[in-house]
Amino acid sequence: MTTKMDVKLETVYQDVLKRNPGEVEFHQAVREVLETLGPVLAKYPEFRDRKIIERICEPERQIIFRVPWQDDRGEVQINRGFRVQYNSSLGPYKGGLRFHPSVYLGIIKFLGFEQIFKNALTGLPIGGGKGGSDFDPKGKSDNEVMRFCQSFMTELMRYIGEHTDVPAGDIGVGGREIGYMFGQYKRLTSRYEAGVLTGKGLDYGGSLVRTEATGYGATFFVKEMLEVRKDSFAGKTCTVSGSGNVAIYTIEKIHQLGGKVVACSDSNGVIHDDKGIDLDLVKQLKEVERRRIKDYVEYRKHARYLPGGNIWEIPCQVAMPSATQNELNGKDAALLVKNGCIAVGEGANMPTTPEGAKVFLDAKVAYGPGKAANAGGVATSALEMQQNASRDSWTFDYTEKRLANIMKNIHQNCWDAAEEFGAKGNYVVGANTAGFIRVAKAMVAHGLI
Ligand code: GLU
Repeated sequence: MTTKMDVKLETVYQDVLKRNPGEVEFHQAVREVLETLGPVLAKYPEFRDRKIIERICEPERQIIFRVPWQDDRGEVQINRGFRVQYNSSLGPYKGGLRFHPSVYLGIIKFLGFEQIFKNALTGLPIGGGKGGSDFDPKGKSDNEVMRFCQSFMTELMRYIGEHTDVPAGDIGVGGREIGYMFGQYKRLTSRYEAGVLTGKGLDYGGSLVRTEATGYGATFFVKEMLEVRKDSFAGKTCTVSGSGNVAIYTIEKIHQLGGKVVACSDSNGVIHDDKGIDLDLVKQLKEVERRRIKDYVEYRKHARYLPGGNIWEIPCQVAMPSATQNELNGKDAALLVKNGCIAVGEGANMPTTPEGAKVFLDAKVAYGPGKAANAGGVATSALEMQQNASRDSWTFDYTEKRLANIMKNIHQNCWDAAEEFGAKGNYVVGANTAGFIRVAKAMVAHGLI
């Protein structure tokens, strides 16, 4: 499905297709942004004259490297590493590293492109970048993960730094991986440069609330969308796809706000627990024991495990896709609407297909796209950088209040931008235009670089 675009923007988009063959997720992310920018170019002709959109679509730098490592049997393994330094108009490149077998350049470029606008929306001084590898952490021993991370950092260290590019986690990269990469960076550079990575452990420069931030932030964003409709999470039945870091802390915050999460999932299947998901159990299985979600029903006999099931078939009033890209399609969206879903907040990056997004927008569902709704993670990374720069560490309560305030501001800015550009209540238009304008103004100010 494609919507009509401004003619000049369609030409830009066709050029992106030609220059980046086969990178379908990247094409999708670019199209979704360009579709909403026609009215912005009409208001700011200087953006057109300076070719800001053409420039913003082209990463400033793309690095691809070999990552050799040895597995526990002594066999040599080769993976591919990526870092796309997309846009540094607002600050050092900032964005996570994804370790997953599906990773290729097109995935990293889609994520990096989204990251530019997401980071701009936080209002903090961070540019956009993303990286990762096709390494699959699933089933690997702790030693294998460590050797891989060390090899990955041996190459990546040339390109990063606290004022240059500051990676963090994403799918497959959590506290353990950040720890191994930080250790290797420190060893190779002989520098204790805390601000070079975020998502660090609390013992060596990490920030309280960073672990919870993406899920908490996405929930705060939905809370704001519901408040506009004079509504709240209290008593709402919710579903949260995934069972990784984002899903876990989304469930936690929804429960704190009085909602009830009845389902979560992993790539093998879905857990449906109509008494409400037992989060301590999910944390034990996923964070401590690194097991699959199907084991949940061993401990909670009343719950159902649906192998290969589709979580969006379970009726809910609030849906929070928090697993991965394109996990919710047009049919799923139609079913959610039919079953009474009134709000959707994306904890994952681009989890809804263009067809799905259109269904939500047409049905006037409160639909918070990832680049706004899940910006709390990277925003708290920027707060971690602030603490590192001042050699300070803030309390949980203070940091969470900062996060809540940032999410409130993002929501307000998206709301205002949507209204200004004639699309009241459309957070897709709001997020794209508000994020884009901030970056574009800085690019104009910096001249042709
Ligand atoms: N990977 C996260 C995201 O998609 C966080 C990035 C960061 O903290 O730098 O925004």
